[in-house]
Amino acid sequence: STEEVLKVVEKIKSENVRWIDIHFVDVPGRLQHTTFPARELLDDPEETFNVAIGGFDGSSITGFTVINESDMLLRPIPETFAIIPDDWQNPPGVAAGRTARFIAQIFWGGYKKGEAPRFEKDPRYIAERAESYLAEQGYKAYFGPEVEFTLFDKLKVDINMPWHKMCVEINYSGAPWDTQLPIMKFKQGYFPANPYDKLFWIRQEIASVLEDYFGFQVEAHHHEVAGAGQGEIDFRFDTAVRAADKVVTLKYVVKNIAAKYGMVATFMPKPIYGDNGNGMHTHQSLWDIKSNKNLFYDPNDEYAELSQLARYYIGGILKHARALSAIVNPTTSSYKRLVPGYEAPIYIAWSKSNRSAIIRVPNYMRGIEKAARIEYRSPDPSTNPYLAFAAMVAAGLDGIRKKIEPPDPVDENIYAMDPKKKAELEEIVKKQLDTKLQLPSSLCEALDELESDHDWLFPIFTKEMYETWIELKREDCKRLNAYPHPVEYYEYFDI
Ligand code: GLN
Ligand code: MG
Ligand code: MG
Ligand code: MG
Repeated sequence: STEEVLKVVEKIKSENVRWIDIHFVDVPGRLQHTTFPARELLDDPEETFNVAIGGFDGSSITGFTVINESDMLLRPIPETFAIIPDDWQNPPGVAAGRTARFIAQIFWGGYKKGEAPRFEKDPRYIAERAESYLAEQGYKAYFGPEVEFTLFDKLKVDINMPWHKMCVEINYSGAPWDTQLPIMKFKQGYFPANPYDKLFWIRQEIASVLEDYFGFQVEAHHHEVAGAGQGEIDFRFDTAVRAADKVVTLKYVVKNIAAKYGMVATFMPKPIYGDNGNGMHTHQSLWDIKSNKNLFYDPNDEYAELSQLARYYIGGILKHARALSAIVNPTTSSYKRLVPGYEAPIYIAWSKSNRSAIIRVPNYMRGIEKAARIEYRSPDPSTNPYLAFAAMVAAGLDGIRKKIEPPDPVDENIYAMDPKKKAELEEIVKKQLDTKLQLPSSLCEALDELESDHDWLFPIFTKEMYETWIELKREDCKRLNAYPHPVEYYEYFDI
């Protein structure tokens, strides 16, 4: 709106912003940027913020366009304005002015002013479509992701290092940032207090910058269970688009602050063999737009104060969980996290506090309407959050539309269940949801699953995005299968 535009123009002027960094993500979800002098935006702010500012070459962005139709436009979104901390944008001694960023929407170039269509493979567009689709049915959805990551010491691990060396260094030389401390052994990072938590101060800075510069409401930060270098930052739930903007921003902030202190941050799901991986558990709930009531809450439900609507939503996620994996666990590393023994779930089941089930209904305190939600635990931060939240909505709404009743909750640790009982569970899941009890064990298997079960993704996903996703991810799994692996050298070189 004009009011928002005026506000942001005022900010750019009063804060003395010299450069504007425009951010967006490619199809896999990596942050991309291009920089303009603030003057260019302020020339004609109405045009900049309502139509677009300059463009870029879409054919050089992973998954975007072909070379003969490559001119794309960017429209900065006023509400995503944020000043970038002076001390990590430019290294000391670099003479450049203040920088602010906007996240942008992407449009096709080559049209008359104001007529450019939205780019079908702009990931943010898919999340926006999820929100409109929800709104058409009188809903809004909230997402609260718990983002986990690992920090490494840059003296040992550098992003310029050959990848195989980095893998060896991390897994065999104890490169994680805080391994120097004897108490930090594998799986003992959670919760020793200072001075043993050597990452406290850096999480403090990350959380403060998120709040003070990027408008976050941080709800908690803590060391995670992995013995070395693992952290988690949680922020207040938000709508699909905004929560995804925040995940993208959080990764950007964590990486930049880490770099400032000679560390390297990774969000890959399983960086260290034998220790816990990085997950992105996602809390979610559906609300009524008009009455602003949480539709997942039902105080009369004895088991978990959960409504029938929430159960259908769970039914949808469980039914499509194997296909969903190809979106919420979209890297080959994802499947190294999803193994028994590391608090990452692999069973298609739901429960109150059972961490072996992919859906948990947090059960800390009862009788609070706004806290009623489900926690989907298999996602990890190697996903593109715009696509992940959109896909969760699509699966959940499919459950509601088709009234998919989930099987009874399973409160027993499924990893430790006796085989006979497990077989019965397998039977139930097959009969009720026509799926298997276990998540896929590889990216290839997940992609097979998505290719045979994806009607539910539409109309939220565009056909173009769906097809490109499959194509890119097939490449990932083909490459990994064909590539000699460090562990194969270890095991077989001397055979
Ligand atoms: N790191 C675990 C995972 O991969 C989660 C640990 C936790 O949050 N309790 O999902
Ligand atoms: Mg948590
Ligand atoms: Mg956690
Ligand atoms: Mg959790």
